[in-house]
Amino acid sequence: MRYCKGCGLPVPYGKFLEWTSDGTIIGKDSAHTRLVYLKVEDIRNMFKGITQRVGVSVDRYVAQAEKEVGKRFAKALVPGFVAHAPRGRIARPEIGVKAASHFIFNYMGGLGMGCAEMLEYRSGQGARILIENSHYIPLVVGDGAGVFEFLERIPVTARWEPVGPDSYVVYVEKTEQPQQQELAQELALEKEANIPGEVHFERCPKCKIPFLVSRSLYLDLDKGSLRNTVTGDREVALPVESFHAVATVMTAHFGAELPYLMEKLEQKHVRESSGVRYYADASGDKGMLGIFSDFTWRGVGNPVWAGNTERGVEVVVDNPFHPGMVAGRVAGQYEAWTDSLVRSSWTEEAPGRLRVLMEPVA
Ligand SMILES: [Zn+2]
Repeated sequence: MRYCKGCGLPVPYGKFLEWTSDGTIIGKDSAHTRLVYLKVEDIRNMFKGITQRVGVSVDRYVAQAEKEVGKRFAKALVPGFVAHAPRGRIARPEIGVKAASHFIFNYMGGLGMGCAEMLEYRSGQGARILIENSHYIPLVVGDGAGVFEFLERIPVTARWEPVGPDSYVVYVEKTEQPQQQELAQELALEKEANIPGEVHFERCPKCKIPFLVSRSLYLDLDKGSLRNTVTGDREVALPVESFHAVATVMTAHFGAELPYLMEKLEQKHVRESSGVRYYADASGDKGMLGIFSDFTWRGVGNPVWAGNTERGVEVVVDNPFHPGMVAGRVAGQYEAWTDSLVRSSWTEEAPGRLRVLMEPVA
């Protein structure tokens, strides 16, 4: 791995990712995958909270939903010579599969998803992969299954077994079950409008990544983990599609209140974490908007307005990565900063424009 001489981040970061002026982070891959940086503990806590609420482990559903995302991820990244190599009865060229998986594992490590090693690969049948230090194992398993489905064009299932502390073996196996056509179609429709913004970053002259990013994150590529240098938290970059896929699949299984539950859990975890005292700068000319100063480098969205109205406190965020999750985040950060509790609701005022209303809890 080569590191940028201007800012110290790995060179591929600048090659593959762009921090835009509208509060989003967009991959330079063919699918323009949108990414968001979140605290690993927030993600784990959210799924733990949902599991407690619905009474059964949701891990299997998360892995199932993420498979479609993994497939797209592979489609956008895997070099053409591997993707188009013969398949079916003819064994796939092992060197090509090794090259593709090495490339994908490296990319995943760079995003903070942990490290992976291919233990066994049987073309048309399945694979065994060792995963260490993952951010959240069901998401990585789903990604792995999706990559395999993409390479082999056969439906697969995936399961995982712990083999040590923070270490799992993932088994990807051929199945007769049909693929998730409906989810694939729904995700294809999920193209939010992008509202232009005026986010300005001071950028590294060599790789163009904002200095705010290189100052906030430290990448340990050997472990595949990202450390927030300001708060000490572990962070991870996730495809935004993951949240839409997970919400869709879990709503189908557990009912329509699921996205609402995700929002409320996010609000609670953000309120109870210490991050806001490091980021918030409500004293400057940004005023109340300063509470959300980490949104743009994280790719959460572009906070464009915040203030008091006759209805309560309102915040407008353009291009939110997921309306419910961002509304929860807005309310949680506001609560943490003001040390108060609020009741929040949100509307999508226009495509890509989220308005969050917060009223004090009496
Ligand atoms: Zn740089």
